[in-house]
Amino acid sequence: MNIIFLGPPGAGKGTQAQRICDALSIPQISTGDMLRKAVKEGTPTGLKAKEYMDAGKLVPDEVLIELIRDRLSEEDCQKGYILDGFPRTVPQAEALEGIARIDAVVELNVPDDHLVNRLSGRRVCLNCGATYHVSLLQGRENCEKCGEKLIQRKDDAPETVLNRLKVYHDQTAPLIDFYQGKGLLQTFDGTKGMEEVYQSIMEALNKLS
Ligand code: ADP
Ligand code: ADP
Ligand code: ZN
Repeated sequence: MNIIFLGPPGAGKGTQAQRICDALSIPQISTGDMLRKAVKEGTPTGLKAKEYMDAGKLVPDEVLIELIRDRLSEEDCQKGYILDGFPRTVPQAEALEGIARIDAVVELNVPDDHLVNRLSGRRVCLNCGATYHVSLLQGRENCEKCGEKLIQRKDDAPETVLNRLKVYHDQTAPLIDFYQGKGLLQTFDGTKGMEEVYQSIMEALNKLS
């Protein structure tokens, strides 16, 4: 199954996508993780992306479309995947139609007032992409999955978060109607606990397969 996860920054896309990908044995394709890795390694894509990411702006469509086209042609994507963070604009969604056949779009709905707290407390592992919240870490500083030191993303600072929420409403939220119109959209209440959200998504996906 080829699935898109859609929702504002902090909605829980990464948290849920990682768990569901483990359960279904399919790859999680997080464009944010791919771009952060490219920035860390100083690749040409990373050099192009860094200033946009730091400012909480979207990286240009052509950079993302090329990144996704290459990634989806790899062997491990042939039996399905979750796209986490792509597409984020209508031109990206239109380009994706020429690259892949999508089976479902999972929208996590979370109002803005929850998101600032979620993002300012977020801690991430740049090695494996795992995501945590500081309120649940009880002082632990390393990734439970791979042991790497957790970091706070620069773009999770409150000023940048407000900018990212605006970008979401202006440029990404139109995709809700786009995919609704294609009969692919399934919306979940992302303010519920992580376990409850996970169970609801799995139940819906099981009905499709
Ligand atoms: P979040 O999980 O908070 O929604 P991501 O990790 O997905 O954030 O993305 C971080 C940043 O990477 C974005 O603010 C943007 O600069 C860039 N980015 C990731 N995916 C895309 C995309 N599909 N189009 C444009 N920019 C992207
Ligand atoms: P996204 O990938 O959509 O930007 P994340 O999965 O990184 O979102 O989650 C953002 C923050 O919110 C993280 O600190 C994560 O631990 C926390 N979080 C995720 N899901 C929930 C939930 N259902 N309830 C409360 N906090 C959550
Ligand atoms: Zn890790």
